[in-house]
This record gives sequence, structure tokens and C-alpha cells, in this order.
Amino acid sequence: MHKVDIAIVGGGMVGLTLANALQALDIQVAVISDKPLSKSLPNDPLLRVSAINGANATALQRLHVWQRMEQSRLAPYTSMTVWDKDSFGEIHFNSADIGAAQLGHILENQVLINALAESVRGQNVTALQGQIAKVLWGQQETMLMLDTDEVVACRLVVGADGANSYIRRQANFPLTFRDYGQTAIVANIHCEQPHDQCARQVFTPHGPLALLPMADPHTCSIVWSQTHEQAKHLLALDDTAFSHALTATSNSVLGLMSLASARQHFPLVMRYSRQWASDGVVIIGDAAHTIHPLAGQGANLGMQDAFALATAIENCLKANKDFSRLRHLRPFERERKAQAIKMIAAMDGFKTLFAGDNPLKKLIRGAGLTATDHLPLLKQKWLNEAMGW
Ligand SMILES: Cc1cc2nc3c(=O)[nH]c(=O)nc-3n(C[C@H](O)[C@H](O)[C@H](O)COP(=O)(O)OP(=O)(O)OC[C@H]3O[C@@H](n4cnc5c(N)ncnc54)[C@H](O)[C@@H]3O)c2cc1C
Repeated sequence: MHKVDIAIVGGGMVGLTLANALQALDIQVAVISDKPLSKSLPNDPLLRVSAINGANATALQRLHVWQRMEQSRLAPYTSMTVWDKDSFGEIHFNSADIGAAQLGHILENQVLINALAESVRGQNVTALQGQIAKVLWGQQETMLMLDTDEVVACRLVVGADGANSYIRRQANFPLTFRDYGQTAIVANIHCEQPHDQCARQVFTPHGPLALLPMADPHTCSIVWSQTHEQAKHLLALDDTAFSHALTATSNSVLGLMSLASARQHFPLVMRYSRQWASDGVVIIGDAAHTIHPLAGQGANLGMQDAFALATAIENCLKANKDFSRLRHLRPFERERKAQAIKMIAAMDGFKTLFAGDNPLKKLIRGAGLTATDHLPLLKQKWLNEAMGW
């Protein structure tokens, strides 16, 4: 039996960020994951990537995680262009506008996970591989039974086990969810012209297409969110026809595009857990909320949950309070729920405004984007929000 203070279920970006943030504290932590944490990286970029904002990059640098990542695979982006395919609206952002070296980085998720996993090894964190088969909740201690027959006893269980969280279900936390009515197609593409470290997004009536610049100047990762029906049609196309559709949708902004990988697809669902904490248990990351990827904020939000929870635990330790009790987890829950709701509302607003081809909406989009492009203070405020400052 492993006896620890905190058991983190889930070894994704969020669970491992928490494990790293807890490293300096005088407590024992276990990370339980049903998959191996580290994986060797292929030469070609992986399909799952995330735009990581400045606030999280800085926090990861302080933990010396950032420095452990394979630097050749980090893709900084220094500008951002967003346009509406159906109107004249366009807006540009530049890192120079806010005196920053870059607006963020596009990272392959596994590159970050590898660095996070490597960084906790040999510290006060035990990594266990296995799936949770049963949870026995106790007053002061919870037992987690793994399918490997190992048992973990802990004071606090942290569910960082993703969108279909087993821990959230076992804790009976009620969930609000809504189908966004879209499927995201993810792939890597080769573009004729260099991307110049610019992250681009075009809104079409069926949904947005993001072209995220990768480390190679002619490679972009795409997140193409379309209605389920339209996505089905795009997925059925052969590689050449798909590449043509992509080039046309992007207005040939990077010249001819050609598919350089397989295509993966994800149905997009908004999820919001109406309760995040109870005595002995708390959930973070996708276990607590999932949002539309159009602003690339899901993992950023989850990592901020992890840092906020680590701070709450540290403050409890300093004040000699029991961090596993709901009354001490409440301020964390309140603060992070408010941030998640704000982000869910913002994604709904964007999605509604940019959906469809209603002429009035097109006029508002076109005029709004172009007018905002000439308002440097408003753009700075948006950038600061997007960068998590
Ligand atoms: C198409 C797309 C594009 C996106 N782009 C961005 C972006 O640009 N920027 C951004 O910030 N976010 C982005 N996101 C969101 C981001 O991918 C997620 O928010 C993030 O991966 C959530 O991390 P997590 O650690 O909470 O959950 P997960 O990544 O789902 O990790 C959960 C972990 O728990 C493990 N697990 C699950 N159940 C169990 C169990 N019972 N026992 C043990 N282990 C278990 C899983 O194996 C997994 O390792 C995007 C999402 C999508 C779908």
C-alpha cells in the first residue's frame, strides 16, 4: 500500500503541472495514470498541440520545466491574424504592441508532458501506472484501488483525469454539458509559404479554422472546427481534395497547402462541473470544464487551476490547516469556477457571433473587427487576457 498526502489521478498536462507545483512542499504526492507518462517523440511533429500562454510559460520556467523541453520543438508565435471569411473584417495582433518577445508558444502536448514527468522524478512524487478500479471514501482517508492490485491511501484525491473524469463521477459532482454542434479536425499541414511565426484563424459560417505555426517554418498544425455534417464530409475527402478545401478556406493565405499527417477528429462539448470540491476530493482541468478550442485556452485554464490549487494547499500548510477539508478548498473552488464560467461565456459569445451568414451579423463582424483593429488599448487588453496576465 502506498500512503501519501495527495493522490493526483491523471498524468496529463494538468495533473503533472500540479505535481510539479507541489514539489517544494513537505508532503508526499502520488500521480496515478492509466498511460505511461513519458513517450519517445517521433521526428515528425505530433498531432495534439496546444497554444500555451505567457503566464503559464513563465510559471513553468520558474519550476524549471520549460528548460527541460526539447527546445527545437518549441514554436513561438509573435503575431496573430483573425479574419472573417464572409465579410471584410480582419484584426492583427503583434507581440511588439505589448512589448513582449512573443504572444505564446505552440507546443506538442507530449513534449510538455515529457518535461513535466521528467521534472517530478526522484522528488516527493511517486508515479504509478494503472487505472482506478474502485474508490473507498473515508472520513479522513480515501483508498484508491488500482487495476494493478496496488492501493493508494491519501488525505486528498485530485481528479485531473480529463473530460470523462472517473473521479468526478465517483464524487457525484453534477455536470452541465452542451454539444457545441461542431467537430474539430486536427492535422499537420505543409504550407507553400512560410508562416512567419504568425497564428492565423479564419471564421467561416460553419466554424473556425486555425493555422498554428510549428517549429518548421513551412509546417502548421490545423484545428478546423466545422458542423458535424460538414466535418464528416471533409473527413471523407481524399488527401488531395482535403488539401484543396483547406487552401480555399484559408484564402490561400500561405499558398498551397498539403496534408502532412493523418487526420484526427474530436466532437466538441462544453462541460462544466457544478461542484469541484468536497471533503477529501477536488477536480481540476478538463475534469472540471471543457471549452471550445477556438481561443486555445482549455489547457491554459486547467494549468491555472493546478497552480491555484497548489497555492491553496501551500497556504493551508503554512497556517496549519487541513487542506483536504471543503471549507479550506472553497476559496479555490470559487475563484477557479468564476474563471471557467468567464471563459465558457466568452467562447459562446465568439461562436455565436461568428456562426452563420445572417447579413446583419456579417456587418457587425466586419465593422467590429476592423474598428477594433484601430483601437490599440482594447487590443492590448485582449492580449493581456489571452496571455493569462
Ligand atoms: C482540438 C483541440 C485543440 C485544443 N487546443 C488547445 C490549445 O491550443 N490550447 C489550450 O490551452 N488547450 C487546447 N485544447 C484543450 C486541451 O487539450 C485540454 O484542455 C487539456 O489537454 C486538458 O488536460 P487535462 O490534463 O485536464 O486532461 P487530459 O489531457 O485528458 O489528461 C487526463 C489524463 O488522465 C488519464 N486518466 C483518465 N482516466 C483515468 C483513470 N481512471 N485512472 C488513471 N488515469 C486516468 C488519461 O490517460 C490522461 O493522461 C484543445 C482541445 C482540443 C480538443
